[in-house]
Amino acid sequence: MSSEHNEQYLFPPQVYSVAVSDSEQRFPVRRVYCVGRNYADHAREMGHDPDREPPFFFSKHPDSLIPSGSVFPYPGESADVHHEIELVVAIGRGGRNIAADEALAHVFGYGVGLDMTRRDLQGAAKKAGRPWEVGKAFDHAAPCSAIVPASRIGHPAAGEIRLDVNGEPRQRGDLASQIWSVPEVIAHLSRYFALEAGDLIFTGTPAGVGAVKVGERLTGAIAGIGTIEITVGRGD
Ligand code: MN
Repeated sequence: MSSEHNEQYLFPPQVYSVAVSDSEQRFPVRRVYCVGRNYADHAREMGHDPDREPPFFFSKHPDSLIPSGSVFPYPGESADVHHEIELVVAIGRGGRNIAADEALAHVFGYGVGLDMTRRDLQGAAKKAGRPWEVGKAFDHAAPCSAIVPASRIGHPAAGEIRLDVNGEPRQRGDLASQIWSVPEVIAHLSRYFALEAGDLIFTGTPAGVGAVKVGERLTGAIAGIGTIEITVGRGD
């Protein structure tokens, strides 16, 4: 242990972060929230009524973030791991009970993420009325691109969101088809949790989710924001 180690702590605390596009500075991550079923076509493909029921939320761990360009190790205890391409919102200013018409002022920027999902374990959890934790919050489950500041690109509310696997089209959607818009998601989420700078929100996936295999290359893009590329690797 280096002599500079602060002995207040038993071991060095970790700071988890994602890159900021065209910047030397990184975005330190506090929490990673996710929205379930936020595109009608995906709600339908999962067997749900796409009526506008209130949004619901689950979480991933900040240490499960991996950057674009990395290998996603196929996780254990699953034979059905799915890709879900998602718009990621990076919160730059905290608040609680944020009004939808003020919500965008709390956004630092946007990224392109993958809500990797052990679908078999999630399905079993749903059936048993158990938490989604093992299906959603496993190690490496949150690939995320660099965050692009809203000061540079504004607040995209429409535009294609897509994912290809080995160059073949898999997911196609448009941000304009979100059941709950980014301002509405922030408004709802901030009623349940005090948001802070450093929070990320994965905002749901369009239709076309499917299983990944070792060796496959996932390439995703959101118009006006950026791209992500991940290779599925063998498990540890
Ligand atoms: Mn998702």
